[in-house]
Amino acid sequence: MSKNTPITVAYGDGIGPEIMTASLDILQAAGAKIDIEIIEIGEKVYLKGNSAGIENSSWESLLKTKVFYKAPITTPQGGGFKSLNVTTRKTLGQFANVRPCVSYSPFVQTKHPVMDVTIIRENEEDLYAGIEHRQTQDVTQCLKLISYPGSERIVRYAFEYARANYKKKVTCFVKDNIMKITDGLFHKIFDEIGEEYPDITKETWIVDIGAAKLATSPEDFEVIVMENLYGDILSDVAAQMTGSVGLAGSANIGVRCSMFEAIHGSAPRRAGKNLANPSGLLLAGVMMMAHIKQFDVATKVHNAWLKTIEDGIHTYDIFKEEVSKKLVGTKEFAQEVIARLGENPKILRPVQYFAKSDPLAEVESKMTTRPDEKKDLIGVDMFVQWSRSEDMDILAKQLIEIKPADLELVVISNRGVKVWPKGIVEPMRVDHYRCRFETKDKTKPISHSVIAELLEKAGKAGIDFVKTENLYYFEGKPGYSLAQGQ
Ligand code: NAD
Repeated sequence: MSKNTPITVAYGDGIGPEIMTASLDILQAAGAKIDIEIIEIGEKVYLKGNSAGIENSSWESLLKTKVFYKAPITTPQGGGFKSLNVTTRKTLGQFANVRPCVSYSPFVQTKHPVMDVTIIRENEEDLYAGIEHRQTQDVTQCLKLISYPGSERIVRYAFEYARANYKKKVTCFVKDNIMKITDGLFHKIFDEIGEEYPDITKETWIVDIGAAKLATSPEDFEVIVMENLYGDILSDVAAQMTGSVGLAGSANIGVRCSMFEAIHGSAPRRAGKNLANPSGLLLAGVMMMAHIKQFDVATKVHNAWLKTIEDGIHTYDIFKEEVSKKLVGTKEFAQEVIARLGENPKILRPVQYFAKSDPLAEVESKMTTRPDEKKDLIGVDMFVQWSRSEDMDILAKQLIEIKPADLELVVISNRGVKVWPKGIVEPMRVDHYRCRFETKDKTKPISHSVIAELLEKAGKAGIDFVKTENLYYFEGKPGYSLAQGQ
């Protein structure tokens, strides 16, 4: 007999303990070979004064088992509490969020009866790095970070996931018509890595029209890979489109530890009443069983669950007179699924999990190392706080007076639009100016000391610089965008 796999379990808050008990009962009745280590997270831990909502000792269990089955938690009202999900994701390097969004028509009402879309969302980068600043009276900023390895890892994961799950098509959503460098990189990597997967159809959409198409024709999509923000928004939209957020599970995949949970919260008003639908957490548990390679258990539980839904055994959230046969509570629902273990659905499509390939292991073994590129410093963008209304020639004159000999003042822009040299139309201005200095000859890079000299002179002249951004050429090509109108 093969050995049990240790997993870490958190029962969570609100409806958490009820739906976790129900889900574990079903998994164990199906023969799951698991050894459970229980940790406490969430409200009780937060209220003990731990702002992260998780004890230090719990990390040991997570890093040891590498598998976390997590019920929803309640984040107490009021400031000072950090999101446990964000902390776990970042600490454990969970780079991929995987969310299958499936319709179960006619048994669960939905406007989209044909829908089986998996959203794969990058989980660590983008605007979610949390690097934000207030720079001037008028202007705040949030840095959008998109990296080569981060993008390669998530794009590869999407292709490997598609292969392992017999999906034929991967679509990429980006906004590279506007963000040519960041989203452009994500798109480029999707195209490059995609070439290694000739068995899979590839498609790219600008995220706005792609989202509109997803909302009207979800049947055209199988796997969609996205950066963090687009994925955050669209994975909720897609889950809602299937008819109930209460039915979706999700996985956060990482090398140090992967986490499996329902997408809904702790529904405190339903807690302790034996009302909640355990399906989202159970389907997350099915993903977990496939992750730990207990494919027979994953298949058995998923099909028994489909049969239960098909037989009209429904909890209150999906109960509809027209299709439902029996209204059940959390415990009874679990018993009904257990009674159907070994059965397949007749109308809904049965599922089959295979030991085809392990997406995470494939990604780790295929990650590329890129050669170092030649990087030349050819200028600097100096951001300054300055009057919203004064003539731009006054600022330009001061900047030209202080600039080091190696640099030229090329353009001044306000919210990305050129305001000096003057254009035909004067845009509305805020107090935040990007002043671009470049070398005349881009083949002659400057040293950092030239920038230090510029800043020292600006400081002495009373020019309030709020930040700088170096301008580089990579292998002879600019690594920065032009100002609109430049
Ligand atoms: P929620 O998902 O808990 O509830 C939204 C609605 O859906 C409610 O009407 C609820 O009764 C219903 N619902 C949710 N899950 C259900 C289920 N399994 N069966 C039947 N009905 C269900 O969202 P909320 O009310 O915004 O948040 C409640 C708490 O959950 C908050 O403290 C929030 O911070 C937390 N939360 C936690 C997680 C997580 O742990 N991953 C995620 C989201 C929200």
